[in-house]
Amino acid sequence: MKEFAIIAALDLDTSALVLEIAAKIAKTVDGIKIGVPTLLESGTGIVARVRELLDDKPLLVDLKIADIGFRSPKSWSGTNAKILAKLGRCGVSHVTVHGFPGPSSVAEAVDVGNEFGIGALLLPMMSHVGAETFFSRPLEVAQFETSCRNSGIDPTSVVKSPLRDVTDGILAIGEAIGVSGYIGPATRPEDLRRYRLLTQKPIWCPGFGRQDRLGRSLAVQLRDWADIVGSRSAAIVGSSIYNAHDPYAAAIEMIEIRDAVTGEISK
Ligand code: C5P
Repeated sequence: MKEFAIIAALDLDTSALVLEIAAKIAKTVDGIKIGVPTLLESGTGIVARVRELLDDKPLLVDLKIADIGFRSPKSWSGTNAKILAKLGRCGVSHVTVHGFPGPSSVAEAVDVGNEFGIGALLLPMMSHVGAETFFSRPLEVAQFETSCRNSGIDPTSVVKSPLRDVTDGILAIGEAIGVSGYIGPATRPEDLRRYRLLTQKPIWCPGFGRQDRLGRSLAVQLRDWADIVGSRSAAIVGSSIYNAHDPYAAAIEMIEIRDAVTGEISK
């Protein structure tokens, strides 16, 4: 994947519009994200059509998987495995996975995703107003460690720094299980700094434009993101591209801003 990638989130009302905008911008952006509403309308058939436009660039399906992990003697057979099997090898490179259902749920998503060549991006925090309501709850570390051990993982052997809250606990689970990367909130620079203390894995960041609550321009948001997260990262940009009068021009502008801010960093 490209360093400092720009991933376009195509949260449009119809699959026809998703395909129309994807066709316009697929050669310009570094990847595309499609969401549950689009899959509900069109089924997984749309994934193959977007894949054709993207060549081998990342295609993220934002499923936010959060169901049970269940290990039978031979294989994972919880609901997470069934969700991923429905995607199978249809061209998806990454899916989003929630960490709050705990280690066996994440492990099932990661292992079964790997079987299909799909990387799991874990969500230790989110970008919207109030996301801290539960993610920032203090972690009961002793109970956390016991639960993890019962699921066969030991996060504290991987992450040595103190785990303060649910966000830290989810990051530690992700490190111990070996997720492909994380989703991190571009709206919360302080949280992105915390992620980087605990992980060197890629961090894909949504929350640009309309979700920003710090009064920053897109250029300042992108500069903050690139400064904090570094090159193993992606900016997930939705409405700032697809709601623009000319989405193709907006995608080009986003790439130009990215190139300008990352050029500054490498000087
Ligand atoms: O339009 P906007 O740029 O706000 O779109 C952001 C996209 O990223 C949406 O598809 C949203 O669902 C997704 N997302 C997010 N925050 C997260 C996880 C995903 O905004 N924590």
